[in-house]
Amino acid sequence: MTLHVQAQVSLKPFNSFGIDVRARLFAQAHSDADVREALAYAAGQQLPLLVIGGGSNLLLTQDIDAVVLRMATQGIRILHDDGVHVVVEAEAGETWHPFVLWTLEHGFSGLENLSLIPGTVGAAPMQNIGAYGVEIKDVFSGLTALDRQTGELRDFSLAECNFAYRDSLFKHEVGRWLILRVRFALSRAVHLKLEYGPVQQRLTEQGVTLATPSDVSRAICSIRSEKLPDPAVLGNAGSFFKNPLVSQALAAELQGLYPDLVAYPQADGQMKLAAGWLIDKAGWKGFREGDAGVHRLQALVLVNYGGATGLEISNLAQRIQQDIAQRFKVDLEMEPNRY
Ligand code: FAD
Ligand code: NAP
Repeated sequence: MTLHVQAQVSLKPFNSFGIDVRARLFAQAHSDADVREALAYAAGQQLPLLVIGGGSNLLLTQDIDAVVLRMATQGIRILHDDGVHVVVEAEAGETWHPFVLWTLEHGFSGLENLSLIPGTVGAAPMQNIGAYGVEIKDVFSGLTALDRQTGELRDFSLAECNFAYRDSLFKHEVGRWLILRVRFALSRAVHLKLEYGPVQQRLTEQGVTLATPSDVSRAICSIRSEKLPDPAVLGNAGSFFKNPLVSQALAAELQGLYPDLVAYPQADGQMKLAAGWLIDKAGWKGFREGDAGVHRLQALVLVNYGGATGLEISNLAQRIQQDIAQRFKVDLEMEPNRY
């Protein structure tokens, strides 16, 4: 047995909220063989297995009565390169942002808008991570997952992943698929997406006229570092709620009441509302009760000032959800995975 299993391990260093719950058993996977060994071990102990990456999209509300397996597999390889189109494969345990930097250093564009998102490569397809107008699905080539029900490996194409706004097949078939490695279709040709948020403005401020993908990455890193709390300093899981998709009729009704409502039309005819705007408008920005709070600059980000429990964060989230439903008739869906 090569897997090193420890008992009663605090998960505080392994979740970005910094919540102090314990895993009954804990191990790290450095290879596919470790993953299989961990699954067999958990079955032998008659315990479930919970796989985690960087813990940046988790809300842990109790001690975890399971084998917690942290993906730590490493490896990045170029599978295809015809001089323009490139396919790069990365192991699930690779940390996302250094992987993005690796692609940029090699002259491959496509992931620059997704710079500085915490977490691992393996978790990225779970919620089809997105930022500044780009989602994983836009640069996705395929992935290999282990079917925990049968023990077989399966390759998924783009169409098979059912990617949607912060959503995928893997979020729905909970606990079935363990993502081992992900492939990205990148390019040596440059097609920048600069229309979203303040990216172009930041490039101009930085004196960049003809931007490269690395310039865009640096601009986005500087915006994010200013706007978002660093989990190493203040526990958080990024946006706590998804931006809700609502009917045009409801958006029009709300716009009548609140002319400054932030709403973006979607291709399917729905309207996407900025959840942060709703929460701010309802007066929650900067709210704090005990050590659970709403960030003072980013209403979408719930924070742990140090000693909050997952239940305290969860209770605050529920109060916000109820208030938003009452005021605006809008249901806010939680983004982090709750255990
Ligand atoms: P974890 O939190 O460890 O796990 C998340 C879920 O995926 C869990 O259900 C876990 O069981 C499952 N999982 C993890 N690894 C695997 C695997 N290999 N196979 C199968 N299941 C797995 N998200 C965005 O989309 N856009 C952003 O811009 C963004 N910004 C953020 C900013 C901050 C400051 C923070 C703290 C978070 C942000 N997030 C953002 C959320 C988060 O970073 C992403 O969702 C990230 O992909 C989570 O990766 P992780 O490795 O930390 O996953
Ligand atoms: P922002 O620029 O202040 O914009 C607020 C919201 O409006 C964003 O959530 C974004 O939706 C939407 N938006 C902005 N410009 C848009 C456009 N041109 N077309 C359509 N929608 C637009 O947002 P922010 O909070 O600073 O975040 C910047 C980006 O990073 C966003 O894409 C956001 O999703 C991402 N981010 C995600 C997390 C997370 O944990 N999921 C955390 C931090 C930042 P979208 O969210 O749909 O993009």
